Amino acid sequence: MSSNVTMEKIVSLCKRRGFIFPSSEIYGGLSSCWDYGPMGVELKRNVRHAWWKAIVQDRDDVVGVDTSIMMHPNVWKASGHVDSFTDPLVECKSCHLRWRAEEIENQAMKQPQKEEAHPTTPPIWRGTCPKCGGDLTEPRLFNLMFKSFMGPVEEEASTVYLRPETAQGIFVNFENVVNTSRKKLPLGIAQIGKSFRNEITPGNFIFRTREFEHMELEYFVKPGTDGQWLDYWVKERFDWYVKLGIRKENLRLRQHGKGELAHYAKDCYDVEYLFPMGWSELEGIANRSDYDLTQHAKYSGRDLSYYDGQSRERYIPYVIEPSAGVDRSVLAFLIDAYREEMVEEEKRVVLQLQPALAPMKVAVLPLSRNEKLTPLAKKVYQQLCPSFMADYDDSQGIGRRYRRQDEIGTPFCVTVDFQSLEDHQATIRERDSLAQIRVPIETLEETLRAKLGGEPFDVSPLWATRQK
Ligand code: ATP
Repeated sequence: MSSNVTMEKIVSLCKRRGFIFPSSEIYGGLSSCWDYGPMGVELKRNVRHAWWKAIVQDRDDVVGVDTSIMMHPNVWKASGHVDSFTDPLVECKSCHLRWRAEEIENQAMKQPQKEEAHPTTPPIWRGTCPKCGGDLTEPRLFNLMFKSFMGPVEEEASTVYLRPETAQGIFVNFENVVNTSRKKLPLGIAQIGKSFRNEITPGNFIFRTREFEHMELEYFVKPGTDGQWLDYWVKERFDWYVKLGIRKENLRLRQHGKGELAHYAKDCYDVEYLFPMGWSELEGIANRSDYDLTQHAKYSGRDLSYYDGQSRERYIPYVIEPSAGVDRSVLAFLIDAYREEMVEEEKRVVLQLQPALAPMKVAVLPLSRNEKLTPLAKKVYQQLCPSFMADYDDSQGIGRRYRRQDEIGTPFCVTVDFQSLEDHQATIRERDSLAQIRVPIETLEETLRAKLGGEPFDVSPLWATRQK
C-alpha cells in the first residue's frame, strides 16, 4: 500500500468514478451493503475471470460448478455451521450496539486496565462500548447464518439458510462430479458465487460485508499428501496476487495458531494484505482434512469414499481449500494500484491496475468535438469495441479526459486529431509512462493487443517488465 492511501480516498474515488456506490443510497443507504457501478462491475468481472483462468482454465486437474445458494438444512447441520458458526458477542447496556467479543478483547488488551482490588470479571468484559463507553453484557453466541423459510409457512420445519460459504455446494456434489468428469485425484472443484454472513461488525467499506462473493477451490487429495498440497496452494495463491500487480511488500503469510483453527481445519494459512487499517486477511488456505465428506457421508447415509485405481485403495479424500473474497480482492487491488503523482506541476490520481484488471482497456478521445473529427473517432471506437472494453469520451478538454481515464486505470488512450484525417494515424498514450506513439489506424487493434498481452485477459508482458 502506498503510505498516502486512506480508505476515505478509495471510497471517494469509487463513488466519483462509478466503481462502488452505497446500496439503496436514495433511501439513506443500507448498512454495509454496496452496489457496483459501471467501472466496478468490470473490475469485479476481471478479478473473477483472472481467478477462474488461473484455477480452472489453465489447469487440467480442476473443474467448475455453480451450485444453489439455498441448500437442504441438513447440509449445515452436517457441516457444523448450525452448531459452530458462531461468534461470541457482547451488547452495550446503554446504546445496545453489539460487538464481537474478540474485538473488545483486542482493544482492552491495548488499553491500560483500571486496577481493581477484587476483580470479579474476566479481563475482556472490563472493556467498555467503543461507541458510547457504556458497560457491556456477558458474551453470547450468535449464529452468523441468515435464516429464512421456504414456502408460505414460517415454521421450524421449513427453515432454510443462505449459504455462508460456497464450499458445501461442492462437497455435496463430489460424487456427481467424480462420476461425470471421469477425472482422478488429485481433483479440484471450483466455484464463484455469493455468500451471506450476518456479520456482527461489518465495515471498512467492502472489506467485511454481510453479502459478498466467494472464490473457492476444494482440492481433493489422497490422505498423507495433504501437507505438501497445502504448501503448494499457499504458494500458488500468494503468487497469484503478485502476478496481478500487488506489491510483494504489502503481502504476507500467517499460519493460524492451534486455538484459532476453524472447527473443520487441521492447518490454515492466511494471505494477509496491508490494508489502510493494518494487516488483515485477504484469503484463507485451509487443510479441511476429511471432515466435510465424512460428515456428509454420516448425515446423508451415502458412501462418499473414493476408489483409487492406482493404489487400489478406498479412502475419504482430504481437502485443501483456498478461499478468497472477490470484493476483498477488489479492495486490495484498488488500494495497491492507487497513486498520486505530480505531472507538469499538476496532481494526478492514477490507478496503476494491471491491464488484465483494468475496467476499460482503451479510451478513444477525439482531440475536440469538432464535427470533422467525430466520424473518424467514432469509427476507431467501433473498430476497437469488439476486441476490448473501450470507452469513448469527447466532453471537456483533452487534459481532463486523460485524467479521468487515469483515475479509472485505463492503460491506453487513443487520440484522434486533425492530422489523423490526413495521415490516417492516431496517437496511443500510455497511462503510466505517459509515452505517446503514433500508429496507423488500421494497425491499432494489433498494436494494442500486443501491448495488452495477446489475449485481453492475459497478464501483459509490458506490465510484467515494468514490475521488475
Ligand atoms: P474474517 O475473519 O476476515 O471475517 P474469515 O476468516 O471468516 O474472514 P473465511 O471464512 O476464511 O473468512 O473466508 C474466506 C475469504 O472470504 C476471506 O479471506 C475474505 O476474503 C472473504 N470473506 C469472508 N467473510 C467476508 C465478509 N463478511 N465480507 C467480505 N469478504 C469476506
